[in-house]
Amino acid sequence: MPKQPLTIQGAAISPGYAQGIVHLQRSLLGPIDVPVKGAQLNVEEEFTRLDQATAQISNDLIILATRVEKEIDKHLAEVFGVHKQILDDHLLKEELRREIVDNLVTAGSAVKSVFLRWEKRFLLMESRIAREKGDDLHDVSIRLRNALAGITTHPLEQIPENCILVTQRLLPSDTVFLNNRSTAAVLLEYGAKGSHAALFARQLGVPCISEIPNILEKLTNGDMALVDGTLGVLIVNPNRPMMISFQKTVDENALLLQKAQKLAGCPAVTLDGMLISVNANVGCHEDTSKALKNGADGIGLYRIEQFYIGRTLPPTSDELLDEMRHTLSSMKGNSVCVRLLDVGADKPLPFVGFMAETNPALGRRGIRLLREYPELLYTQIKAIISLMSDYEVQILVPMVALPEDILLVKKMLNTFCIEHNISPLPKLGAMIETPAAALSASTIAPHVDFMSFGSNDLTQYAFAADRENASVETYYNDDSAVIFRMMEIVHSDVPDMPLSICGELAGSKEHIRRLLQCGITSLSVAAPLVPLIKETIRKTKVDLPR
Ligand code: PEP
Ligand code: MG
Repeated sequence: MPKQPLTIQGAAISPGYAQGIVHLQRSLLGPIDVPVKGAQLNVEEEFTRLDQATAQISNDLIILATRVEKEIDKHLAEVFGVHKQILDDHLLKEELRREIVDNLVTAGSAVKSVFLRWEKRFLLMESRIAREKGDDLHDVSIRLRNALAGITTHPLEQIPENCILVTQRLLPSDTVFLNNRSTAAVLLEYGAKGSHAALFARQLGVPCISEIPNILEKLTNGDMALVDGTLGVLIVNPNRPMMISFQKTVDENALLLQKAQKLAGCPAVTLDGMLISVNANVGCHEDTSKALKNGADGIGLYRIEQFYIGRTLPPTSDELLDEMRHTLSSMKGNSVCVRLLDVGADKPLPFVGFMAETNPALGRRGIRLLREYPELLYTQIKAIISLMSDYEVQILVPMVALPEDILLVKKMLNTFCIEHNISPLPKLGAMIETPAAALSASTIAPHVDFMSFGSNDLTQYAFAADRENASVETYYNDDSAVIFRMMEIVHSDVPDMPLSICGELAGSKEHIRRLLQCGITSLSVAAPLVPLIKETIRKTKVDLPR
Protein backbone atom coordinates (compact mmCIF):
# COMPACT_ATOMS: atom_id res chain seq x y z
CA MET A 1 0.00 0.00 0.00
CA PRO A 2 1.43 3.45 -0.89
CA LYS A 3 2.46 5.57 2.09
CA GLN A 4 0.26 8.50 3.09
CA PRO A 5 1.57 11.90 1.94
CA LEU A 6 2.87 14.15 4.71
CA THR A 7 3.23 17.93 4.39
CA ILE A 8 5.56 19.70 6.82
CA GLN A 9 6.15 23.44 7.19
CA GLY A 10 9.67 24.31 8.33
CA ALA A 11 11.91 27.37 8.21
CA ALA A 12 13.08 28.33 4.71
CA ILE A 13 16.82 28.85 5.07
CA SER A 14 18.09 28.39 1.52
CA PRO A 15 15.76 28.91 -1.49
CA GLY A 16 15.21 26.62 -4.47
CA TYR A 17 13.34 23.45 -5.41
CA ALA A 18 14.35 19.81 -5.37
CA GLN A 19 12.83 16.38 -5.50
CA GLY A 20 14.51 13.12 -4.65
CA ILE A 21 14.96 10.18 -2.36
CA VAL A 22 15.48 10.75 1.37
CA HIS A 23 18.77 9.71 2.93
CA LEU A 24 18.84 9.81 6.75
CA GLN A 25 22.24 10.61 8.22
CA ARG A 26 22.35 9.93 11.94
CA SER A 27 26.09 9.44 12.27
CA LEU A 28 27.04 13.11 11.75
CA LEU A 29 26.76 13.45 15.48
CA GLY A 30 30.11 11.72 15.95
CA PRO A 31 31.79 8.52 16.98
CA ILE A 32 30.94 6.23 19.86
CA ASP A 33 33.50 6.40 22.65
CA VAL A 34 35.04 3.19 23.93
CA PRO A 35 35.43 3.41 27.72
CA VAL A 36 38.77 2.36 29.25
CA LYS A 37 39.02 1.34 32.87
CA GLY A 38 40.97 3.84 35.00
CA ALA A 39 43.61 1.32 36.08
CA GLN A 40 44.53 0.55 32.45
CA LEU A 41 44.84 4.16 31.45
CA ASN A 42 48.25 5.60 30.72
CA VAL A 43 47.94 9.36 31.17
CA GLU A 44 51.11 10.15 29.19
CA GLU A 45 49.90 8.02 26.29
CA GLU A 46 46.57 9.82 26.27
CA PHE A 47 48.41 13.19 26.24
CA THR A 48 50.44 12.02 23.22
CA ARG A 49 47.32 10.76 21.42
CA LEU A 50 45.61 14.08 22.09
CA ASP A 51 48.62 16.05 20.76
CA GLN A 52 48.83 13.88 17.65
CA ALA A 53 45.11 14.21 16.92
CA THR A 54 45.30 17.98 17.44
CA ALA A 55 48.23 18.25 15.01
CA GLN A 56 46.41 16.12 12.44
CA ILE A 57 43.24 18.20 12.67
CA SER A 58 45.22 21.45 12.45
CA ASN A 59 46.69 20.19 9.22
CA ASP A 60 43.28 19.07 7.89
CA LEU A 61 41.82 22.48 8.65
CA ILE A 62 44.44 24.21 6.52
CA ILE A 63 43.63 21.85 3.62
CA LEU A 64 39.90 22.35 4.16
CA ALA A 65 40.24 26.14 4.20
CA THR A 66 42.17 26.08 0.92
CA ARG A 67 39.55 23.82 -0.63
CA VAL A 68 36.63 25.97 0.47
CA GLU A 69 38.39 29.15 -0.64
CA LYS A 70 38.95 27.64 -4.09
CA GLU A 71 35.64 25.84 -4.53
CA ILE A 72 33.18 27.97 -2.59
CA ASP A 73 34.10 31.32 -1.05
CA LYS A 74 37.08 33.00 0.61
CA HIS A 75 34.82 34.59 3.18
CA LEU A 76 33.42 31.19 4.21
CA ALA A 77 36.88 29.65 4.39
CA GLU A 78 37.54 31.93 7.36
CA VAL A 79 35.34 29.63 9.49
CA PHE A 80 38.16 27.11 9.48
CA GLY A 81 40.61 29.75 10.69
CA VAL A 82 38.27 30.15 13.67
CA HIS A 83 38.36 26.36 14.20
CA LYS A 84 42.12 26.44 14.24
CA GLN A 85 42.06 29.21 16.85
CA ILE A 86 39.81 26.99 19.01
CA LEU A 87 42.28 24.10 18.70
CA ASP A 88 45.15 26.42 19.70
CA ASP A 89 43.33 27.87 22.72
CA HIS A 90 45.54 27.46 25.80
CA LEU A 91 42.70 27.40 28.31
CA LEU A 92 40.97 24.63 26.38
CA LYS A 93 44.19 22.61 26.08
CA GLU A 94 44.76 22.94 29.82
CA GLU A 95 41.22 21.87 30.65
CA LEU A 96 41.52 18.79 28.39
CA ARG A 97 44.67 17.65 30.17
CA ARG A 98 43.17 18.26 33.58
CA GLU A 99 40.12 16.20 32.60
CA ILE A 100 42.34 13.21 31.65
CA VAL A 101 44.40 13.42 34.86
CA ASP A 102 41.62 14.21 37.33
CA ASN A 103 39.04 11.72 36.01
CA LEU A 104 41.39 9.13 34.52
CA VAL A 105 39.52 9.11 31.20
CA THR A 106 40.69 8.62 27.61
CA ALA A 107 41.56 11.57 25.43
CA GLY A 108 38.33 10.93 23.48
CA SER A 109 36.15 11.11 26.60
CA ALA A 110 37.99 14.21 27.80
CA VAL A 111 37.36 15.91 24.45
CA LYS A 112 33.69 14.95 24.64
CA SER A 113 33.01 16.29 28.13
CA VAL A 114 35.21 19.40 28.01
CA PHE A 115 33.90 20.53 24.61
CA LEU A 116 30.34 19.84 25.74
CA ARG A 117 30.83 22.15 28.75
CA TRP A 118 32.24 24.95 26.56
CA GLU A 119 29.65 24.41 23.88
CA LYS A 120 26.78 24.66 26.36
CA ARG A 121 28.04 27.99 27.65
CA PHE A 122 27.97 29.44 24.14
CA LEU A 123 24.70 27.84 23.04
CA LEU A 124 22.93 29.36 26.05
CA MET A 125 23.91 32.86 24.96
CA GLU A 126 21.45 34.86 22.90
CA SER A 127 23.82 36.45 20.41
CA ARG A 128 24.10 34.76 17.05
CA ILE A 129 27.90 35.06 17.07
CA ALA A 130 28.05 33.21 20.41
CA ARG A 131 25.71 30.48 19.21
CA GLU A 132 27.76 30.01 16.06
CA LYS A 133 30.81 29.65 18.27
CA GLY A 134 28.92 26.79 19.98
CA ASP A 135 28.48 25.12 16.57
CA ASP A 136 32.15 25.67 15.78
CA LEU A 137 33.17 24.02 19.06
CA HIS A 138 30.90 21.07 18.30
CA ASP A 139 32.50 20.72 14.89
CA VAL A 140 36.05 20.74 16.25
CA SER A 141 35.06 18.29 19.00
CA ILE A 142 33.74 15.77 16.45
CA ARG A 143 36.83 16.11 14.29
CA LEU A 144 39.11 15.51 17.27
CA ARG A 145 37.12 12.51 18.49
CA ASN A 146 37.05 11.02 15.00
CA ALA A 147 40.81 11.46 14.71
CA LEU A 148 41.29 9.80 18.14
CA ALA A 149 39.06 6.91 17.04
CA GLY A 150 41.04 6.50 13.80
CA ILE A 151 38.12 7.56 11.56
CA THR A 152 39.42 9.41 8.55
CA THR A 153 36.51 9.54 6.10
CA HIS A 154 33.60 11.89 6.53
CA PRO A 155 30.12 10.24 6.51
CA LEU A 156 28.92 12.73 3.91
CA GLU A 157 31.52 11.50 1.45
CA GLN A 158 29.48 8.31 1.10
CA ILE A 159 25.93 9.59 0.72
CA PRO A 160 24.02 8.63 -2.46
CA GLU A 161 24.17 11.03 -5.42
CA ASN A 162 21.36 13.58 -5.65
CA CYS A 163 19.69 12.51 -2.42
CA ILE A 164 17.68 14.67 -0.04
CA LEU A 165 19.97 14.68 2.97
CA VAL A 166 18.18 14.56 6.32
CA THR A 167 20.11 15.18 9.52
CA GLN A 168 19.82 16.85 12.88
CA ARG A 169 22.09 19.79 12.30
CA LEU A 170 24.82 20.63 9.85
CA LEU A 171 28.19 21.83 10.97
CA PRO A 172 30.44 24.13 8.94
CA SER A 173 32.84 21.37 7.91
CA ASP A 174 29.99 19.03 6.91
CA THR A 175 28.88 21.51 4.28
CA VAL A 176 32.20 21.17 2.45
CA PHE A 177 31.13 17.67 1.45
CA LEU A 178 27.91 18.91 -0.07
CA ASN A 179 27.82 20.20 -3.57
CA ASN A 180 25.30 20.49 -6.35
CA ARG A 181 26.29 17.14 -7.83
CA SER A 182 25.77 15.01 -4.76
CA THR A 183 23.02 16.65 -2.76
CA ALA A 184 19.65 17.78 -4.08
CA ALA A 185 18.50 19.40 -0.81
CA VAL A 186 19.09 19.39 2.93
CA LEU A 187 16.50 18.99 5.70
CA LEU A 188 17.48 19.82 9.25
CA GLU A 189 16.04 19.55 12.73
CA TYR A 190 17.94 22.67 13.87
CA GLY A 191 19.57 25.51 11.95
CA ALA A 192 19.03 29.26 12.19
CA LYS A 193 18.80 31.45 9.11
CA GLY A 194 21.98 33.25 10.12
CA SER A 195 24.00 30.11 10.93
CA HIS A 196 27.16 29.19 9.05
CA ALA A 197 25.40 26.13 7.63
CA ALA A 198 22.63 28.28 6.16
CA LEU A 199 25.23 30.58 4.64
CA PHE A 200 27.05 27.66 3.02
CA ALA A 201 23.84 26.14 1.69
CA ARG A 202 22.76 29.43 0.11
CA GLN A 203 26.20 29.98 -1.34
CA LEU A 204 26.15 26.50 -2.87
CA GLY A 205 22.61 26.96 -4.14
CA VAL A 206 21.36 23.86 -2.27
CA PRO A 207 17.74 24.27 -1.08
CA CYS A 208 17.49 23.83 2.67
CA ILE A 209 14.67 23.69 5.22
CA SER A 210 15.30 23.63 8.96
CA GLU A 211 13.37 23.67 12.24
CA ILE A 212 11.61 20.33 11.56
CA PRO A 213 11.27 18.72 15.02
CA ASN A 214 12.11 14.99 15.24
CA ILE A 215 12.79 14.83 11.53
CA LEU A 216 14.79 11.60 11.83
CA GLU A 217 11.73 9.87 13.30
CA LYS A 218 9.26 11.34 10.82
CA LEU A 219 11.09 10.22 7.67
CA THR A 220 12.44 6.86 6.51
CA ASN A 221 15.31 6.06 4.17
CA GLY A 222 13.98 5.74 0.64
CA ASP A 223 10.99 8.06 1.12
CA MET A 224 10.28 10.29 -1.85
CA ALA A 225 10.33 14.03 -1.00
CA LEU A 226 9.50 17.33 -2.65
CA VAL A 227 11.41 20.28 -1.17
CA ASP A 228 10.35 23.88 -1.61
CA GLY A 229 13.25 25.74 0.01
CA THR A 230 11.75 29.07 -0.99
CA LEU A 231 8.64 28.63 1.16
CA GLY A 232 10.08 26.08 3.60
CA VAL A 233 7.52 23.40 2.65
CA LEU A 234 8.37 19.70 2.56
CA ILE A 235 6.08 17.04 1.08
CA VAL A 236 6.98 13.43 1.87
CA ASN A 237 5.61 10.59 -0.27
CA PRO A 238 3.49 12.92 -2.43
CA ASN A 239 0.49 11.69 -4.38
CA ARG A 240 0.21 12.34 -8.11
CA PRO A 241 -1.70 15.67 -7.94
CA MET A 242 0.90 16.97 -5.46
CA MET A 243 3.73 16.01 -7.80
CA ILE A 244 2.05 17.65 -10.77
CA SER A 245 1.44 20.86 -8.84
CA PHE A 246 5.06 20.90 -7.55
CA GLN A 247 6.45 20.37 -11.04
CA LYS A 248 4.29 23.25 -12.28
CA THR A 249 5.81 25.58 -9.64
CA VAL A 250 9.32 24.40 -10.52
CA ASP A 251 8.75 24.97 -14.26
CA GLU A 252 7.18 28.38 -13.74
CA ASN A 253 10.06 29.52 -11.57
CA ALA A 254 12.68 28.18 -13.96
CA LEU A 255 11.04 30.07 -16.82
CA LEU A 256 10.81 33.26 -14.79
CA LEU A 257 14.45 33.01 -13.77
CA GLN A 258 15.59 32.30 -17.33
CA LYS A 259 13.76 35.33 -18.65
CA ALA A 260 14.97 37.54 -15.80
CA GLN A 261 18.57 36.47 -16.34
CA LYS A 262 18.45 37.30 -20.03
CA LEU A 263 17.50 40.90 -19.20
CA ALA A 264 19.59 41.18 -16.03
CA GLY A 265 22.04 43.68 -17.54
CA CYS A 266 19.27 46.04 -18.74
CA PRO A 267 17.91 48.88 -16.62
CA ALA A 268 14.79 48.32 -14.52
CA VAL A 269 12.02 50.74 -15.51
CA THR A 270 8.49 50.48 -14.12
CA LEU A 271 5.42 50.37 -16.37
CA ASP A 272 4.86 54.04 -15.54
CA GLY A 273 8.39 55.00 -16.53
CA MET A 274 10.31 55.23 -13.23
CA LEU A 275 13.95 54.16 -13.51
CA ILE A 276 14.92 52.21 -10.38
CA SER A 277 18.50 51.20 -9.71
CA VAL A 278 18.95 47.66 -8.46
CA ASN A 279 22.24 47.18 -6.67
CA ALA A 280 23.87 44.34 -4.77
CA ASN A 281 24.84 43.90 -1.13
CA VAL A 282 28.40 42.55 -0.88
CA GLY A 283 30.93 41.58 1.76
CA CYS A 284 33.67 39.82 -0.21
CA HIS A 285 35.19 39.40 -3.67
CA GLU A 286 32.93 36.47 -4.64
CA ASP A 287 29.80 38.48 -3.84
CA THR A 288 30.95 41.25 -6.19
CA SER A 289 31.67 38.78 -9.00
CA LYS A 290 28.14 37.45 -8.56
CA ALA A 291 26.81 41.03 -8.58
CA LEU A 292 28.42 41.60 -11.97
CA LYS A 293 27.16 38.29 -13.35
CA ASN A 294 23.63 39.05 -12.20
CA GLY A 295 23.53 42.50 -13.77
CA ALA A 296 23.61 44.67 -10.62
CA ASP A 297 23.66 48.39 -11.44
CA GLY A 298 26.19 48.98 -8.66
CA ILE A 299 27.03 48.04 -5.08
CA GLY A 300 24.35 49.42 -2.78
CA LEU A 301 25.83 48.14 0.48
CA TYR A 302 29.42 47.06 1.05
CA ARG A 303 29.66 45.56 4.54
CA ILE A 304 33.28 45.70 5.75
CA GLU A 305 32.83 44.03 9.18
CA GLN A 306 34.18 40.60 8.24
CA PHE A 307 37.58 42.06 7.41
CA TYR A 308 37.83 43.68 10.84
CA ILE A 309 36.45 40.83 12.92
CA GLY A 310 39.07 38.35 11.73
CA ARG A 311 41.98 40.61 12.77
CA THR A 312 43.95 40.88 15.97
CA LEU A 313 45.19 44.42 15.10
CA PRO A 314 43.27 47.24 13.44
CA PRO A 315 44.09 47.51 9.72
CA THR A 316 46.05 50.45 8.36
CA SER A 317 44.23 52.44 5.71
CA ASP A 318 46.49 50.83 3.07
CA GLU A 319 45.53 47.35 4.26
CA LEU A 320 41.87 48.30 4.24
CA LEU A 321 42.22 49.82 0.79
CA ASP A 322 43.87 46.61 -0.53
CA GLU A 323 40.98 44.57 0.85
CA MET A 324 38.37 46.91 -0.61
CA ARG A 325 40.10 46.95 -4.02
CA HIS A 326 40.20 43.15 -4.00
CA THR A 327 36.53 42.88 -2.98
CA LEU A 328 35.33 45.38 -5.57
CA SER A 329 37.69 44.61 -8.48
CA SER A 330 35.07 43.08 -10.77
CA MET A 331 32.82 46.19 -10.60
CA LYS A 332 35.42 48.86 -11.47
CA GLY A 333 33.89 52.09 -12.74
CA ASN A 334 30.55 51.46 -11.02
CA SER A 335 28.92 53.14 -8.05
CA VAL A 336 29.82 51.68 -4.66
CA CYS A 337 28.23 52.52 -1.35
CA VAL A 338 30.65 51.66 1.47
CA ARG A 339 29.09 51.37 4.90
CA LEU A 340 31.28 52.47 7.78
CA LEU A 341 32.16 49.75 10.26
CA ASP A 342 29.10 48.44 12.10
CA VAL A 343 30.35 46.40 15.05
CA GLY A 344 29.53 46.39 18.74
CA ALA A 345 29.60 44.15 21.79
CA ASP A 346 27.73 41.43 19.86
CA LYS A 347 30.45 41.40 17.17
CA PRO A 348 33.48 42.40 19.26
CA LEU A 349 36.81 43.44 17.78
CA PRO A 350 39.82 41.88 19.50
CA PHE A 351 41.62 45.24 19.60
CA VAL A 352 38.79 47.34 21.08
CA GLY A 353 38.05 47.13 24.82
CA PHE A 354 34.40 46.17 24.99
CA MET A 355 32.48 46.28 28.21
CA ALA A 356 30.13 43.35 28.56
CA GLU A 357 26.88 45.08 27.70
CA THR A 358 23.53 43.76 28.90
CA ASN A 359 21.92 44.82 25.62
CA PRO A 360 24.62 44.98 22.94
CA ALA A 361 22.07 45.82 20.24
CA LEU A 362 21.19 48.92 22.25
CA GLY A 363 24.76 49.70 23.19
CA ARG A 364 27.92 51.04 21.54
CA ARG A 365 27.17 49.82 18.03
CA GLY A 366 28.00 51.29 14.61
CA ILE A 367 28.60 55.02 14.59
CA ARG A 368 28.44 55.14 18.42
CA LEU A 369 31.62 53.11 18.59
CA LEU A 370 33.31 55.16 15.85
CA ARG A 371 32.53 58.36 17.73
CA GLU A 372 34.50 56.93 20.61
CA TYR A 373 37.38 55.73 18.41
CA PRO A 374 37.89 58.49 15.81
CA GLU A 375 41.13 56.85 14.66
CA LEU A 376 39.12 53.84 13.43
CA LEU A 377 36.89 56.24 11.50
CA TYR A 378 39.86 58.12 10.05
CA THR A 379 41.39 54.90 8.64
CA GLN A 380 38.12 54.13 6.86
CA ILE A 381 37.65 57.63 5.47
CA LYS A 382 41.21 57.68 4.12
CA ALA A 383 40.83 54.27 2.42
CA ILE A 384 37.36 55.04 1.03
CA ILE A 385 38.54 58.35 -0.45
CA SER A 386 41.35 56.50 -2.27
CA LEU A 387 38.71 54.33 -3.95
CA MET A 388 37.33 57.43 -5.66
CA SER A 389 39.85 57.15 -8.51
CA ASP A 390 38.17 53.92 -9.68
CA TYR A 391 34.59 54.09 -8.41
CA GLU A 392 31.74 56.47 -7.89
CA VAL A 393 31.91 56.32 -4.11
CA GLN A 394 29.23 56.89 -1.48
CA ILE A 395 29.66 56.62 2.28
CA LEU A 396 26.91 55.25 4.49
CA VAL A 397 26.76 55.81 8.26
CA PRO A 398 25.25 52.93 10.31
CA MET A 399 23.03 53.19 13.40
CA VAL A 400 22.31 56.89 13.11
CA ALA A 401 19.97 58.10 15.86
CA LEU A 402 21.06 61.75 16.29
CA PRO A 403 22.15 64.46 13.83
CA GLU A 404 25.48 64.54 15.74
CA ASP A 405 26.14 60.98 14.56
CA ILE A 406 26.41 62.34 11.02
CA LEU A 407 28.06 65.63 11.88
CA LEU A 408 31.20 64.00 13.24
CA VAL A 409 31.70 62.00 10.01
CA LYS A 410 30.94 65.00 7.85
CA LYS A 411 33.46 67.13 9.70
CA MET A 412 36.21 64.55 9.38
CA LEU A 413 35.39 63.99 5.71
CA ASN A 414 35.42 67.74 4.93
CA THR A 415 38.71 68.31 6.73
CA PHE A 416 40.36 65.36 4.99
CA CYS A 417 39.18 66.49 1.55
CA ILE A 418 40.28 70.10 2.09
CA GLU A 419 43.73 68.99 3.33
CA HIS A 420 44.17 66.68 0.34
CA ASN A 421 42.60 68.93 -2.29
CA ILE A 422 39.84 66.47 -3.07
CA SER A 423 36.78 67.70 -4.87
CA PRO A 424 33.95 66.91 -5.23
CA LEU A 425 33.39 65.10 -1.95
CA PRO A 426 31.90 61.59 -1.93
CA LYS A 427 28.18 61.54 -1.23
CA LEU A 428 27.33 60.96 2.42
CA GLY A 429 24.26 59.01 3.54
CA ALA A 430 22.52 58.06 6.78
CA MET A 431 21.19 54.59 7.38
CA ILE A 432 17.62 54.87 8.59
CA GLU A 433 17.52 51.86 10.86
CA THR A 434 16.38 53.31 14.17
CA PRO A 435 12.87 54.71 14.71
CA ALA A 436 14.58 57.87 16.07
CA ALA A 437 16.27 58.45 12.71
CA ALA A 438 13.05 57.77 10.78
CA LEU A 439 11.05 60.18 12.92
CA SER A 440 13.68 62.93 12.82
CA ALA A 441 14.64 62.65 9.14
CA SER A 442 14.11 66.39 8.67
CA THR A 443 16.81 67.24 11.23
CA ILE A 444 19.26 64.71 9.75
CA ALA A 445 18.51 65.70 6.15
CA PRO A 446 20.48 68.98 6.04
CA HIS A 447 23.70 67.02 6.68
CA VAL A 448 23.35 64.17 4.15
CA ASP A 449 23.00 63.58 0.40
CA PHE A 450 20.87 60.43 0.63
CA MET A 451 19.22 58.03 3.08
CA SER A 452 19.13 54.24 3.00
CA PHE A 453 16.59 52.20 4.96
CA GLY A 454 18.15 49.35 6.95
CA SER A 455 14.90 47.43 7.31
CA ASN A 456 16.53 44.60 9.30
CA ASP A 457 17.47 46.82 12.21
CA LEU A 458 14.53 49.18 11.75
CA THR A 459 12.28 46.16 12.38
CA GLN A 460 14.31 44.94 15.35
CA TYR A 461 14.17 48.36 17.00
CA ALA A 462 10.57 49.18 16.07
CA PHE A 463 9.24 45.92 17.51
CA ALA A 464 11.85 45.60 20.28
CA ALA A 465 12.52 42.08 18.92
CA ASP A 466 16.10 40.80 18.66
CA ARG A 467 16.57 39.85 15.00
CA GLU A 468 18.72 36.84 15.98
CA ASN A 469 16.37 35.46 18.61
CA ALA A 470 14.03 32.80 17.20
CA SER A 471 11.78 32.91 20.27
CA VAL A 472 10.54 36.44 19.43
CA GLU A 473 10.32 35.76 15.70
CA THR A 474 6.58 36.48 15.61
CA TYR A 475 7.31 40.08 16.63
CA TYR A 476 9.96 40.54 13.95
CA ASN A 477 7.83 41.61 10.95
CA ASP A 478 9.86 43.55 8.44
CA ASP A 479 6.90 43.80 6.06
CA SER A 480 4.49 45.16 8.62
CA ALA A 481 2.51 48.37 8.08
CA VAL A 482 4.60 49.85 10.94
CA ILE A 483 7.75 49.72 8.80
CA PHE A 484 6.08 51.13 5.68
CA ARG A 485 4.53 53.88 7.84
CA MET A 486 7.98 54.97 8.98
CA MET A 487 9.19 55.00 5.38
CA GLU A 488 6.22 57.14 4.37
CA ILE A 489 6.94 59.58 7.19
CA VAL A 490 10.54 59.94 6.01
CA HIS A 491 9.41 60.49 2.41
CA SER A 492 6.80 63.06 3.35
CA ASP A 493 9.12 64.90 5.78
CA VAL A 494 12.03 65.08 3.28
CA PRO A 495 10.36 64.72 -0.15
CA ASP A 496 13.47 65.67 -2.15
CA MET A 497 15.84 63.28 -0.39
CA PRO A 498 17.05 60.34 -2.56
CA LEU A 499 15.87 57.22 -0.73
CA SER A 500 17.18 53.68 -1.01
CA ILE A 501 16.76 50.43 0.91
CA CYS A 502 19.41 47.81 1.63
CA GLY A 503 17.73 45.54 4.22
CA GLU A 504 16.29 42.07 3.39
CA LEU A 505 12.86 43.58 2.67
CA ALA A 506 14.28 45.01 -0.59
CA GLY A 507 14.60 41.45 -1.92
CA SER A 508 10.95 40.45 -1.48
CA LYS A 509 9.09 40.69 -4.78
CA GLU A 510 5.67 41.13 -3.19
CA HIS A 511 6.64 44.43 -1.59
CA ILE A 512 8.41 46.19 -4.43
CA ARG A 513 5.42 48.32 -5.42
CA ARG A 514 4.82 49.43 -1.83
CA LEU A 515 8.50 50.35 -1.43
CA LEU A 516 8.47 52.41 -4.61
CA GLN A 517 5.32 54.16 -3.41
CA CYS A 518 7.28 55.21 -0.32
CA GLY A 519 9.60 57.19 -2.58
CA ILE A 520 12.41 54.63 -2.80
CA THR A 521 14.27 54.85 -6.11
CA SER A 522 17.15 52.48 -5.42
CA LEU A 523 17.19 48.95 -3.96
CA SER A 524 20.11 46.84 -2.82
CA VAL A 525 19.69 43.06 -2.52
CA ALA A 526 21.70 39.81 -2.38
CA ALA A 527 23.37 39.41 -5.79
CA PRO A 528 21.43 36.31 -6.96
CA LEU A 529 18.15 38.20 -6.45
CA VAL A 530 19.02 41.10 -8.77
CA PRO A 531 17.53 39.61 -12.01
CA LEU A 532 14.20 38.70 -10.39
CA ILE A 533 13.85 42.05 -8.63
CA LYS A 534 14.59 43.90 -11.87
CA GLU A 535 11.99 41.78 -13.66
CA THR A 536 9.43 42.49 -10.92
CA ILE A 537 10.06 46.23 -11.27
CA ARG A 538 9.49 46.02 -15.02
CA LYS A 539 6.05 44.56 -14.36
CA THR A 540 5.14 47.12 -11.69
CA LYS A 541 2.92 50.14 -12.09
CA VAL A 542 3.71 52.35 -9.13
CA ASP A 543 0.70 54.67 -9.44
CA LEU A 544 2.11 57.30 -7.14
CA PRO A 545 -0.65 58.89 -5.09
CA ARG A 546 -1.14 62.49 -6.29
C1 PEP B 1 19.85 46.54 8.02
O1 PEP B 1 19.87 46.70 9.24
O2 PEP B 1 18.79 46.43 7.37
C2 PEP B 1 21.11 46.45 7.25
C3 PEP B 1 21.13 46.44 5.94
O3 PEP B 1 22.27 46.32 7.95
P1 PEP B 1 22.77 44.97 8.69
O4 PEP B 1 21.85 43.87 8.26
O5 PEP B 1 24.17 44.79 8.25
O6 PEP B 1 22.63 45.35 10.12
MG1 MG C 1 21.73 47.32 10.18
